[in-house]
Amino acid sequence: MIRVTPIQTGTVSIRPHHHCGEEGKGSIRRKIDMLMDKDWVEDLPIFTYLIEHPEGNFLVDSGDTAENSAQDFLPSWHPFFKHGVVVKVAPGEEVGDQLWRMGLNPNKDLKALVLTHMHHDHAGGLHHFPHIPIIVTRENYELASSFKGRIFGCLPQYFPRWFSPQLIEFNNEPFGPFAESFYLTKDKNVICVPTPGHMRGHMSIIVKAPDMTYIIAGDATYDERFLLEELVDGVTYNVDLSKQTLRKFKQLGREQPTLLLPAHDLNVRERLEKQLILPCDSLII
Ligand SMILES: [Zn+2]
Repeated sequence: MIRVTPIQTGTVSIRPHHHCGEEGKGSIRRKIDMLMDKDWVEDLPIFTYLIEHPEGNFLVDSGDTAENSAQDFLPSWHPFFKHGVVVKVAPGEEVGDQLWRMGLNPNKDLKALVLTHMHHDHAGGLHHFPHIPIIVTRENYELASSFKGRIFGCLPQYFPRWFSPQLIEFNNEPFGPFAESFYLTKDKNVICVPTPGHMRGHMSIIVKAPDMTYIIAGDATYDERFLLEELVDGVTYNVDLSKQTLRKFKQLGREQPTLLLPAHDLNVRERLEKQLILPCDSLII
């Protein structure tokens, strides 16, 4: 049996120009628009995903932490953390607490924690997992750990002292539209694929269940609407690369029944409940 379950670790609010940049604008202009934006989108969920697989359980992303809900805990010198984001995570909403409530010991009942990327709302729960492998791409970890990482939405100053992730590089074996991949399971049904654009070294996790292919997208797209219309967020470092990633998701959706699971999409639970696949007639590239 292979099953994918969303676990919501609170909410995050961001500016509309962060959620979706304006078409025709490049990555720098999109950052300026984000910082000048005075509006907010509605609170968005912060999802992590539990993958239950015969070879073991995997958790994708660790969500955010209750500490980041206090605005003065986030770096006040940083315009994004000061003006561009509001995190709301109650202590019991952190992913470790929720795993315990689901009957899972975070450090015994998971084979690994896999990070799509290391933005604060994906790597905020690392402290729950001192005793299991934590997997991230080398490229993303090196950026997130650097000063540049602090500029671009990571909080390496709060990484646990023991944090020493397993750094992966893709192995050149193609998977569907993706030229490279990294298998997490021997049966090759849980697969990391590079999905650059939102952040350097960003990856998504593909789960192949018997009747459905799931894309655990991280932040490669925030929302299925944006994927179908090939609209890119304000955070992207390269609009064209982000769009190439979206087209690969759409291509996968044309090849097989595919269900999209981004980290901040309001409709994820309904999509899973009703098994709503990417609509084929909207997948023309
Ligand atoms: Zn992100």
